Order: sequence, then structure tokens, then C-alpha cells
Amino acid sequence: MLEKIVIANRGEIALRILRACRELGIKTIAIHSEADRDLKHVRLADESVCIGPAASAASYLNEPAIISAAEVCDAQAIHPGYGFLSENADFAERVEQSGFVFIGPRPDTIRLMGDKITAIEAMKQSGVPTVPGSDGPLDDNDERTLQLAAAIGYPVIIKAAGGGGGRGMRVVHSEASLLSAISLTRSEAAAAFGNDTLYMEKFLENPRHVEFQVLADTHGNAIHLGERDCSMQRRHQKVVEEAPAPGITAELRDRIGNRCAEACRQIGYRGAGTFEFLYQDGEFFFIEMNTRVQVEHPVTEMITGVDIVREQLLIAGGEPLSYGQDAIRVRGHAIECRINAEDPTNFMPCPGDITQLHLPGGPGVRVDTHLYNGYRVPPYYDSMIGKLVTHGETRDVAIARMRTALSEMVIDGIKTNIPLHVDIMDDANFQKGGMNIHYLEKKLGL
Ligand code: ADP
Repeated sequence: MLEKIVIANRGEIALRILRACRELGIKTIAIHSEADRDLKHVRLADESVCIGPAASAASYLNEPAIISAAEVCDAQAIHPGYGFLSENADFAERVEQSGFVFIGPRPDTIRLMGDKITAIEAMKQSGVPTVPGSDGPLDDNDERTLQLAAAIGYPVIIKAAGGGGGRGMRVVHSEASLLSAISLTRSEAAAAFGNDTLYMEKFLENPRHVEFQVLADTHGNAIHLGERDCSMQRRHQKVVEEAPAPGITAELRDRIGNRCAEACRQIGYRGAGTFEFLYQDGEFFFIEMNTRVQVEHPVTEMITGVDIVREQLLIAGGEPLSYGQDAIRVRGHAIECRINAEDPTNFMPCPGDITQLHLPGGPGVRVDTHLYNGYRVPPYYDSMIGKLVTHGETRDVAIARMRTALSEMVIDGIKTNIPLHVDIMDDANFQKGGMNIHYLEKKLGL
């Protein structure tokens, strides 16, 4: 069992990790930038270390400073949260070579899943359904590439093996533009990711984004916690998430979820992870795996009762999973709204002082936020300032609770996207459920 860890992140997820540590009696070290001395979890942590200036590159991405903090404070492990260094295999390796536990998968697993081609290959071997495509990298034989695209059928999408964050992709609608699109994407990928390896997939035109949560321990046990629907997106950024995904039957959930758990056993996965799929016409197509805790993990916690961060900590301490697959039941429905400090009309970030804060409450309401009255939202980081989550016996109840909670929430001093969430909750098609990944942008007229 772990006794003391470094929380190598900021904001709501750092606070979330701190809370799980406290429940387990694990001591915490908050590392933070000069701009983040007033973060709530920094004040609550057992120890805190300022590791650098505001810029992330000099603080939250400053690998030697984070590892030194762990050494100086005598920690056993480092929790990377999400974003920052959480999916950096080299960092995970340095952490483990320095004698600490990286709270996440083994470095070679992060590397395997970080390259989309090797990830897809590993999934296929475990029977996880993937998108019809090139089955490996595109080579420089143009004739073969043209034949391949014709066999897959247009439109196709050209993707960079090392891509991320919605970048390094190009949709091709006809043979005439295929080769030029490939050379353009290749040079962009080389510049952006230092890796010009590309592959090709069938482009799905109206998919939903549905992802499966998994947990795996170091004793060979792996389970799935069902799926989440994250189709409400703007510019590939998730805005609203829910669990379970509307219209997915228990049989389909078990079939795909069990494949994901099996893939975890086969690759020796460790910790929490997410298999992302596109879902169209009743079929699942794997696109990538995230080897960390996700922003939207609370909706899964609300419907299963499993504390995912607690499990991460237990697994890292060498404990077996607290649950077998049979103990996992989906109960009711949960929705999460990501609350951002941004102008709701033009989406520009809007940092500043919180002059008044009133958080909602009542049955089935959960707020994960580091905000407090008088806190200053700094301009240097991601604009997400919290997550409002509601749970109900049915999806309709969860939506009704979200509308009530949004109407109670007061965050004065800065602009937030609360009005956008009110709009989404009032939207007849959202209320119906099962909208695809283009729906929100269409609704917004983008
Ligand atoms: P990233 O790592 O950059 O997020 P992903 O592979 O997860 O890249 O893809 C990001 C988004 O691009 C998906 O959520 C989806 O909207 C779109 N996308 C990716 N592959 C396909 C595909 N084969 N068909 C349709 N859309 C796709």
C-alpha cells in the first residue's frame, strides 16, 4: 500500500486525487507553479513544492523538477492526472528508473498505445473491432495506396500514427486528391509530431463517440465499467458526457466491454484506461486508447459506484482490484457538463477573480471543482474550471437535475459556458439522446 505520493497536476483533478488519497490515508505532496500557490489542493496537501514559473513547460512539464520533488519529499509514487505528462512514456520511464511508481500503465504500454498503428494492431489481436483501413503504415508505393483506398471506399481519412489532440488528420473524398493529401499530411505530421508515419481508415460520416472504461491490476485481473457517450463536442473537445450511452443494450455493452478487458489482460495493462470507439449503425470501431484517468470519469463512478481514482491508487500499491466483473452493475444515468472559464458566445478564455461562488446541491448532484470565493483563475492553463455531474434513476431525471443544478450555480467575476449547457439541456434532440459527433457544432452554426 502506498504511503505518500506526488500529485503532478493542478486544478480539479489534483483535488480529486488528493481526496482519494485522504480517504486511503495516503500522504500528499502538491507540486505547483508560481501562479498556482493558491490552488485549493495545494493548501490541503500535506506538503507542497513550488517547482517553477507559470508556464507549463517550466513547471507541470518540468520532468527533473517533479522527480526531484518526489526525492526530496520521500514519496513512493507520482500521479500524473490527465494532460501534461500523463501519456508521456519517456517520463513514465524516468519516474520508474528513479525508483518511483508511475501511477498509470508501464512505460512500454504507454508507448504501444501512443502509436496509433501499434495500438490498432494490438486491439485486433484481442478481437476488439477496429475501423476498416490500411492495417499498418502507408508506404511510398502510390499505386498500392490508390488501390487500398478504392478497396476501403471513399471517403477515407489519412491519420498520423503519432497524432493527438485532433491534429494530423485529413479527410479525402475522391481519388483525385488522395496522393496530394497524403504528402501534405506527411509533412505536417513530421513537423508536429516528429514522426511522418501515416495510415488510412474508412471515414465514418455520422458516428457517435462512445468509450469504454477499464481497470486492470498487476495480478492479471481486468474489468470494464461500461461505456460513456461523449458525442457532444466542439472542435474535438468534449463538452457534455454521459453514461451509459443511449441505446446501447446490456448485451452489446458486455460484448465490447469484455473484449476491452481481454485486450488489457493480453497486453499486461495496469491501471485505469479508456478505449475510444466511433459507434455508427450499431457497430463499434476502435480509434485509440487513453492510458490515464479521463476528465469524464465521474459519470462512470456515478452509475457503477466504483471510485476510479481510488482503484488507481490501490493498483499502483500492488493491491488486487476491489471488484470482479460480476460485481459491476450499471444503475441509472449520469451526465457531466464541463464548466469552462470562457465567453459562451465566442469561446474565448475568460480568466479572472471569482467574486461570488454558489455551488448547486441536492440529490444526485456532484461538483468537482477547485474554485472557491476569491480564487483567481490564472490565464496560463486550460480553461476548464470544474465539472457538474448529475445522476438519476433515468436519463430524464439526470437531465432535469442538471437543469436545476445549472440554474442554481453562480460563478461571478468571470464568464463561463453555463449558458451553453442550459441550451444543450433544453435541446429537444439532446433530450432524445444518441446525437452524433457533429450535432453540437451544427446546432451552434459552426
Ligand atoms: P486524437 O488522438 O487526435 O484525438 P482520434 O483518433 O481520437 O485522434 O480522432 C479524433 C477525432 O477525429 C474522433 O473523435 C473523430 O471525431 C474523428 N475521427 C477519427 N477517425 C475517424 C474516422 N475513421 N472516421 C470519422 N471520424 C474520425
